[in-house]
Amino acid sequence: MRDDRGRVYLDYHATTPVDPRVAELVLHHMVSAFGNAGSADHAFGDEAAAAIDSAALDVAALVGGRAEDVLFTSGATEAINMVLKGHRPEPGRRRRFRIAVSPTEHSAVLQTCAAMARGGAAEITVLRVDGRGHVDLNEVAAVCADGCDLVCVMAANNEIGTIASVDAIATLTHQFGVGYLCDASQAGGRIPLRTLVEQDALVVLSAHKMYGPQGVGALVSARMKSLRPLIHGGEQQHGRRAGTLNVPGVAGFGLAARLRDAEMDADEGRIARLRDALQARFLAEIPDLKVNGDPNARLAGNLNIAFPGIPNGAVIARVRVRLAIATGAACASGIEAPSHVLRAIGLADPYLDGALRIGLGKWSTAEDIELAGDLLIDAARSVTAMLR
Ligand code: PLP
Repeated sequence: MRDDRGRVYLDYHATTPVDPRVAELVLHHMVSAFGNAGSADHAFGDEAAAAIDSAALDVAALVGGRAEDVLFTSGATEAINMVLKGHRPEPGRRRRFRIAVSPTEHSAVLQTCAAMARGGAAEITVLRVDGRGHVDLNEVAAVCADGCDLVCVMAANNEIGTIASVDAIATLTHQFGVGYLCDASQAGGRIPLRTLVEQDALVVLSAHKMYGPQGVGALVSARMKSLRPLIHGGEQQHGRRAGTLNVPGVAGFGLAARLRDAEMDADEGRIARLRDALQARFLAEIPDLKVNGDPNARLAGNLNIAFPGIPNGAVIARVRVRLAIATGAACASGIEAPSHVLRAIGLADPYLDGALRIGLGKWSTAEDIELAGDLLIDAARSVTAMLR
């Protein structure tokens, strides 16, 4: 898909365009069915409340929860903060909250853990990951046996696309009675997660990663009662998060989730074929190119490549007028340091500065992929020639 200026968007991990069907519903809830979901005294409020209930059903269904397991938030970041900071310490307990975390988690998890550790509120164990970004299940079992309170392993990584063995992790943590924070911001609506909440995980989703609007997310968990609210005020969402609900955003999120449930399989198969074609072309035309992540367990739309010795900034500078791709996570954009994810998987130095993240999605076309291939191969060759 090109925009009206002919630019191609391949940064679907950062955010996705809103599905026009979703945008139509969002608009309807902004200009027609605009009631406050808390207004119990008239039909406008009833209509808004019904939209929230229906969205809760659809969002819950995507991850194996019930409508009452859903808490709508301003995004995945807030939902993650809620799980990490909202735990209720057992009465009489002296020791600090213990969290075991994968080093490849999003900064919403890592920075919140770091802030809690600095403030003395938590003790953090960083798990090992292998070269493809997978945690070791034996180590997860060991930290659980050792008295850990919460394990954080994301369902799919936002840089290298690695898909974790979430069912195995959920089973393990459940056996030990340990909480499992599963950040499914990237995985939600892309891979089936239809039993995660039943397996007792605390699942985090973000609407703008699944063709819904920005600024809406959810925590879905049957353990909600074990969490304290982060935001105090009115009694919205049963007192678990105060503040007027973002009805247009939540309604849009619900529809986006329902559409993903129905269309994910077909979309992801097509997207994977496009990604594989682009990957094959890069491997054939760029010497020593490295593809990061797990080729056997990777998001269909993810292609993270590294050109050895070719600075990614120089490549981006050459393509950015026509092509939107990224050097890494959007929240780290502008930060010169190599990505913490690539460091954690042990990527060798010459590759670290040459990494590029390409993210395909529902509206990516074969023509987009061809243009991206042409532009990136040209850019890599021209930077190489310049550095010689
Ligand atoms: N977790 C992951 C894996 C993400 O990719 C993102 C977004 O970049 C977030 C959390 C934060 O999501 P939000 O923008 O909804 O706060």
